[in-house]
Amino acid sequence: MALSASTPVAPELVAELERLKRDRDAVVLAHYYVAPEIQAVADYVGDSFALAKLAVSLPQQTLVIAGVAFMGESMKLLNPRKTVLLPNPQADCPMAHMVSRGMVDALRAVYGDDLAVVCYVNSTAAVKSWSDVCVTSSNAVQIVRSLPQRHVLFIPDQNLGGYVAAQVPEKNVILNDGCCPHHHAVTPDEVAALKAAHPGALVLAHPECTDLVLKQADYVGSTAGIIAFAEKSDAEEFIVVTMRGVEAELEKRCNGAVLAGEKGAAACAAAAPRKRFYFAEHSVCPDMASITLEQVVSCLRDPAPEQQVDVPGEFTEPAKRMLDRMLELAGK
Ligand code: SF4
Repeated sequence: MALSASTPVAPELVAELERLKRDRDAVVLAHYYVAPEIQAVADYVGDSFALAKLAVSLPQQTLVIAGVAFMGESMKLLNPRKTVLLPNPQADCPMAHMVSRGMVDALRAVYGDDLAVVCYVNSTAAVKSWSDVCVTSSNAVQIVRSLPQRHVLFIPDQNLGGYVAAQVPEKNVILNDGCCPHHHAVTPDEVAALKAAHPGALVLAHPECTDLVLKQADYVGSTAGIIAFAEKSDAEEFIVVTMRGVEAELEKRCNGAVLAGEKGAAACAAAAPRKRFYFAEHSVCPDMASITLEQVVSCLRDPAPEQQVDVPGEFTEPAKRMLDRMLELAGK
């Protein structure tokens, strides 16, 4: 994904998108990790939890989700009467699938009612349907701490699970071996090298990173949390250990720049950035980056059957229960 101030946005495509949105009563929701030109034209940009929470309050009948497949599923579960469109249905989060039903059942057989299966929102509807509670990276610690069970199986992310386990030592947190391959690939040495190159910078890390990376962080939190921290902080330099797609929102919120389109390019060139952000090499989610503006427009123009999200009936009810409960708990 090219993250440059000169990322071109075809004006005729944007005009067509605006017309199609009006005709189809549609709204575009984009994840922070998608290409900046999509973020620039989206109605709302956020992380998967913030967008899921927001979508239930929107009046539009069609939701276009510029994100990966589990996000489309969550939107459909929470908005069953609405049309949910995924511009690129092939964009799929590998971590969302990284747990087996057999493992969950085997541990339930061992621990019985004293085991809670806690599922990160970045998971498929099937995985959610096997769980007892669904959490976000922001509320996972608080929810695990409040569970009556002593044993907790955390799925699918071993790194977020490990982070939670460290904060809640009174629980026996059992980890699964799934992870986000892109956050997991950032090495502690890489972060140490960035710190050596930018000694005044604060390290802001996503809890999907390994514990050795998190140990070097000044702040650990969700993408939304990282952006809010950088915006409020008096510091001027930040090493941001998550996917580089957040750079567009960081620049917008912290430096008033829009990293897409000709107007944005001019604004970026004219403005001296007050805050600077450094990223680990290769910190791009290829699935999120594979979504194009053309696909966003084409799914509204003439949606292919695979672009229209449907959740297999057997998972619908239990997975929706998990998401409803997650929104309820997050609101407390
Ligand atoms: S960044 Fe990682 S967790 Fe997020 S969608 Fe990509 S693969 Fe999945």
